[in-house]
Amino acid sequence: MHSAKHRLLAATDGTAHQLISHHFGSEAHGKKIYIQAGLHADEIPGMLVALTVMDKLQQIEQQGRLRCEVVLVSAANPIGLSQYVLGYGIGRFELASGRNFNRGFPLLAPQIADAVEGKLGADAEANRAVIRAAWRELLLAQQPRQTFDDMQRTLMLLSIDADIILDLHCSREATMHLYTGEAIWPDAEPLARYLGARASLLAVDSGGQSFDEAHSFTWWKLQQRFGEQFPIPRGSTAVTVEHRGQRDVTDELAQQDATAIIEYLTYCGAIDGPAAPLPPLAWPATPLAGSEQFHAPSAGILLHCVDAGAEVSVGQQIFVIVDTADGTRTSIHSRTAGIFYMRRDARYVRQGDPLGRVSGHEVIRSGNLLSA
Ligand SMILES: [Zn+2]
Repeated sequence: MHSAKHRLLAATDGTAHQLISHHFGSEAHGKKIYIQAGLHADEIPGMLVALTVMDKLQQIEQQGRLRCEVVLVSAANPIGLSQYVLGYGIGRFELASGRNFNRGFPLLAPQIADAVEGKLGADAEANRAVIRAAWRELLLAQQPRQTFDDMQRTLMLLSIDADIILDLHCSREATMHLYTGEAIWPDAEPLARYLGARASLLAVDSGGQSFDEAHSFTWWKLQQRFGEQFPIPRGSTAVTVEHRGQRDVTDELAQQDATAIIEYLTYCGAIDGPAAPLPPLAWPATPLAGSEQFHAPSAGILLHCVDAGAEVSVGQQIFVIVDTADGTRTSIHSRTAGIFYMRRDARYVRQGDPLGRVSGHEVIRSGNLLSA
C-alpha cells in the first residue's frame, strides 16, 4: 500500500484542505476498485467500514491475493469534517453555500460524447478506454473555482476508471440499504446479498447528480447516444451504500460490513480465493420512485411507531405527532407495503418536515427523487 495527498484549492489565506488516497495492488491486473467514505462528513459508520476494509486489504495484499488495483479514500470530505456550529458538526452541506456535498457532481456525458465522436469502434473494451481517456481530459481541463468543486473533481479523477465504485454513507436512523442504477443492478445484486441490504433502490436518474450517478448516469447517457452504432459497456458498477443510521458506529458492525465488501470483491474476481456462498437477497430491489416519503402534517412531538428495517403493510400506523399546546394526537399511516428503511432522528418536527420512507414496487414519484 502507498498513500497520496491531494491538496485542494485554498478558500482563504492560510487555510488548506487535503484528501488522502490509499492505493493497493497493481494496474497490471486491468481491474480497478474505488471505495470512498465520509462524502457526507457527518456519516461516520462508512468511514469506520472503509478503515476496516483498508486493514483487510493490507493483509490480502501481503498474502499476494489481490487481483486488482484498489483506491480507497476513507475520509472523502475534509471540508465537511472541519465544519462546526455551536458544538455540532455539519457534514452534509457546505456552510458557506448550502450546497449538499453529494449533489451537483459534474455530468459530462454531452462533452464526452463530442470528444469521442469518430473514435469509437466495434470493440467494447477499446471504447471504454477511449471514453475514460476523454472523461479524464475533460476533468483535467476544468478550472474549479472553489474548494468544493476541486474536491468533487478530485474524487471523480480518482474513480472514473474504476470498474466497481462504492460510496459509503449512512442515513439518520436506518436499516442497511443501497442506491444504484437500474441498468447495473444485476452486477450490484451480489453486494446487496452479502451486505444483507433490506432495501435496494434503483433509478436511472434521481435528479440529484450524486457521486454514484455521476458515474452510472454518464455511462447510461453514452449508451443511449452511441449504443445502436457501437458497443458501449456499462463502464462501472457504482453503488451508494447506506450503512444504517448515524449512530450505528461499532467495530462489530464495521467488521460485518467490511467482510461483506471483501466477499463481494472476491465474488467479482478482484481478490483471489473461493467466494463465500451468496446469501439470499433480503428484499427485492424496488424503484427509488416507488418509495413513499412521509412529511409532518403539523408541528409537534414525533413518536415513532415502527423500527427502521421493519416490513410494513398498507394502512399501518408509522408515526404519531403530539401537539405541544393541547396534546392532540395525529397519526400517520403508510399507503405503501414495503420496508420502512429509514427515518429521521428528530423527536420534534415542524410542519412539512420529512419523517421517513417506505420502499414500494409501484412508481409514485417523479422529478428529484433524493432528499436535499
Ligand atoms: Zn450520505
